Amino acid sequence: MCGIVGIVDAGGVSLPLYYALYALQHRGQESAGISVFDGDRLRKHKGPGLVAEVFDTEILRSLNGTVGVGHVRYPTTGANLPENIQPFNFEFLGRSFALAHNGNLVNTRELRAAYEQAGQIFCTSTDTEVIANLIADELRHSGSIEDAVRSCMAHLRGSYSVAMVYEDQLYAFRDPLGLKPLCVGTTPCGYIVASESVAIDALSGTLIRDVAPGELVRIDADGITSTQIAVADRAAHCIFEYVYFARADSIIDGVLVYDVRRRIGQKLCEEAPTAADSICPVPDSGTAYAIGYSEASGIPFLEGLMKNRYMGRTFIMPTQAARERAVRIKLNPIKKHLEGKSIVLVDDSIVRGTTSRRIVQLVRDAGAREVHLRVGSPPIRAPCYLGVDMPTREELIASSRSEEEVRASVTATSLHYISLEELVQAIGRDCNDLCTGCLTGCYPVAIKGETDHARVVDFVDTTFQLDLDSFGETC
Ligand code: AMP
Repeated sequence: MCGIVGIVDAGGVSLPLYYALYALQHRGQESAGISVFDGDRLRKHKGPGLVAEVFDTEILRSLNGTVGVGHVRYPTTGANLPENIQPFNFEFLGRSFALAHNGNLVNTRELRAAYEQAGQIFCTSTDTEVIANLIADELRHSGSIEDAVRSCMAHLRGSYSVAMVYEDQLYAFRDPLGLKPLCVGTTPCGYIVASESVAIDALSGTLIRDVAPGELVRIDADGITSTQIAVADRAAHCIFEYVYFARADSIIDGVLVYDVRRRIGQKLCEEAPTAADSICPVPDSGTAYAIGYSEASGIPFLEGLMKNRYMGRTFIMPTQAARERAVRIKLNPIKKHLEGKSIVLVDDSIVRGTTSRRIVQLVRDAGAREVHLRVGSPPIRAPCYLGVDMPTREELIASSRSEEEVRASVTATSLHYISLEELVQAIGRDCNDLCTGCLTGCYPVAIKGETDHARVVDFVDTTFQLDLDSFGETC
C-alpha cells in the first residue's frame, strides 16, 4: 500500500501536498516525496522516512508550482532503495510528467522484459516505471493522455491508482476493478485527488466523490473533466482497506470506514458473545471494533493497553526480531484495568500471529484472568499480490491452522474471527464487488500459479464524459 495525492491550486501546491501526505502517513512510512510543475519544469524533493522528516519549510518553499503530486511509500514491489522513492519525474519529447502510484501490478515482469528486449533501460525496480513507459509509448504515437491511459489499462494487470502531473495538468486514474481507493474533492482554492478522503479533510476541502473504477480525471486551471476509459463486469475493492489499512475517519467508495468497523464489532458480539468484565481494544486498529462489540454486548469499553503514539506500525519493521521488540515499546498495559479481570480483546486482524501472541501475553502478564480474542476479519489464508504486505502462505498463521490451533498458538482463552458473510454485510457492498483474495484465495485478476480467472474488462469505444454536475461548484 502507498498513499498518493495530486493538487491543483493557483496559490501554490507544496504546502497543501505536504499536509495531505501528513494525513496519508498511515499508508506508508518508508519514504515520502513531492513533485511540482513550476510552469517551466518539474521540481521534486523526496527521501526516506516520515513526511515530517523529509520536508521542512525551506524545502517546501523551493517547490514552487500550481500543480503537483505527492507520495508516501510502503514497499510491496521494488526494494527499499533510494531510486524507488516516488513520485518519479520524466522528461519526454520536450515535455515532462511526474507519476505517483498506489498498487501492485502482477504482470510487471512480462511488460518490463518486452521493453528491455526492445533496448529500453530502467532506473528503478518498481512497477511504476513500467506504467510510465506505457504512457510515454502511447504519447509518442497519439499525444493524448486519454489514449495513453487506455493503453495502460489494456496492458496492466493488477492494482493501480495513479496521480500524474503532465505539464500544467493533473491527471488521476484508477484501475478498472477499483482495487485501490482514490477520491476527488475541492480545496478552498483548488482541486485534489487522494487515496483517502482524510487528505481532503486536512485541507478543509470537500469530498466530491470517488474516482470510478476505470475512470480518468483531468484537472487544470479550467476545472475538472472525466473520461470513462474502461468498464469491468464487477468491481474488486480491496476488503482489507475497510478492515485495517484505511483510516477509520475516511470515506471509501461512499462508506465511512469507522461505521464498517463498528458494525463488524457488533456482529462479532452477535456471532460470539461472551461474559466478560470489559471490552478492550488493541489500539488503535481495534478501537472502532471494540466500541461496536461493547455497544452490542452492554459490557463496558475500557482501555487496557496504552499506545505510544510516537511509534510507527510494528509490521513495517524489517525483521521478525525487531517486530517482536517493537510491540512491547509500542503498547503498555494498564494493570488496574486488567488485574483479575475477564477481558474481551478486540483487534482488526491476525496476519502472522506475532502481534496477537505478544499482546495476549502482555494482557495476561498484567493479571487478566481470561483473554477472549475477537478479530474483525476472517482468517487470512492467502497472500496478497495486489498491494498489501502478506507475502507467503507459510508466514500466515491461519493458512494451515484451524481456529483452535490459532487460539492455542496465540494463547487466548477463546478466539473468534468475524465470518466473511457478516464482514461483507458490514461493508454493505455485494461480495462480488470486493477483492477477498487474502481471505479466500480467489483473486479478481489472473495471477500465475494462483488463478487464470479474471474479471472481464471492456474498453469504452467512444470515450464519454461523466456527469460533470456531480463534481459540484468550482472555486
Ligand atoms: P501479526 O498478526 O503479528 O502479523 O500482526 C497483525 C497486526 O498488524 C494486525 O492486527 C494489524 O493491526 C496489523 N497489520 C495487519 N496487516 C498489516 C499489513 N499488511 N501491514 C502492516 N500492518 C498490518
